[in-house]
Amino acid sequence: MVKETGYYDVLGVKPCASQDELKKAYRKLALKYHPDKNPNEGEKFKLISQAYEVLSNEEKRRIYDQGGEQAIKEGGSGGGGGGGFSSPMDIFDMFFGGGMRRNREKRGKDVIHQMSVTLEELYNGSVRKLALQKHVICSKCEGKGGKKPPEKCPACRGLGVQIRVEQLAPGMVTQVQSMCGECRGQGERISPKDRCKNCEGKKVVRDRKILEVHVDKGMEDGQKIVFSGEGDQEPGLEPGDIIIVLDEKEHEVFRRVSNDLTMQIEIELVESLCGFQKPIKTLDDRTLVISSIPGEVIKNNDIKCIMGEGMPAYKNPFEKGRLVIQFSVFFPTKLSLEKIKLLEEILPTRPDVIIPDDAEECMLSKIDPQRNRRHHMNAYDEDDDDMHGHHRQVQCQTS
Ligand SMILES: [Zn+2]
Ligand SMILES: [Zn+2]
Repeated sequence: MVKETGYYDVLGVKPCASQDELKKAYRKLALKYHPDKNPNEGEKFKLISQAYEVLSNEEKRRIYDQGGEQAIKEGGSGGGGGGGFSSPMDIFDMFFGGGMRRNREKRGKDVIHQMSVTLEELYNGSVRKLALQKHVICSKCEGKGGKKPPEKCPACRGLGVQIRVEQLAPGMVTQVQSMCGECRGQGERISPKDRCKNCEGKKVVRDRKILEVHVDKGMEDGQKIVFSGEGDQEPGLEPGDIIIVLDEKEHEVFRRVSNDLTMQIEIELVESLCGFQKPIKTLDDRTLVISSIPGEVIKNNDIKCIMGEGMPAYKNPFEKGRLVIQFSVFFPTKLSLEKIKLLEEILPTRPDVIIPDDAEECMLSKIDPQRNRRHHMNAYDEDDDDMHGHHRQVQCQTS
């Protein structure tokens, strides 16, 4: 049991989430709320980053689970920074492989985009066109901004900031510094009459760019496709990269686990006992047919696999994983007395049961999962599913 779930809630995951689930949740939210995309959500971006920083670290996560946010802020772990957080940008850069190149100062920022892909696309490969807006050097003025070289900004006298003196109370003044609006902090500007008409003196213009993104067979969720030097252009800077991060959409039939695909097949009790044939539509639109071995009984939760019908391996697409099938058996909810009689005759005989004379007769009641959940969270979750004849894959085994 965890003391509080705040950090998990921020990332939208359950307290039993695996590291992979945490990573995926952070990746999606961090890209969505990154200040480049969502300038007004700085606070949210910070919270996401803090939650991930704690939960992605086994030690910190343990402290949080036991003592909540308070324990983290008190910095129980000793050594590292007294419970302080890293900057959200550092966490982001680390996660998305920033620091790959050292000389950041001479390079523009990398731009990261998330692209939703289906499991079919990851299986078959696809080419996607992605339209992006980016800054390019103005072709009219070749990035100079105007006909004449820039002059010292008259508004701030080249300082880039403007200093105002404000009176707080009679006799009490304070200096307020703010970025110079005239030159946008640059300290120099091109006088309005000389400005390039095309870019209004900004040296760059917005341009629409179509990227062809090659999604190769076997690529996976979270994989990055890098377009080197395709980021925003800025005079005097080497442009950064455009990085496309793949985001796998959930598939209604298959789930991917590394190079295996998993799926659930529901069969009736009669099929489980007397055999069955089932068609399976593959991700490349073929139809496979599976059948049970005559005489074999398939039990609820039995797992079988088909070799070579999983996902293709990245860069080695002829190598394919397994298709893992988990069976759930639908039991009839009611049986008539005659049918029961017939079944008794057919099925293996029931075992002898010895009941002592002083045994107490009891009634079996249904379990109300809501009532019990709070006390025995994990123990009843599974029972709840089984009672309805379904079996959901249990996702909380890690904790
Ligand atoms: Zn200025
Ligand atoms: Zn221009």
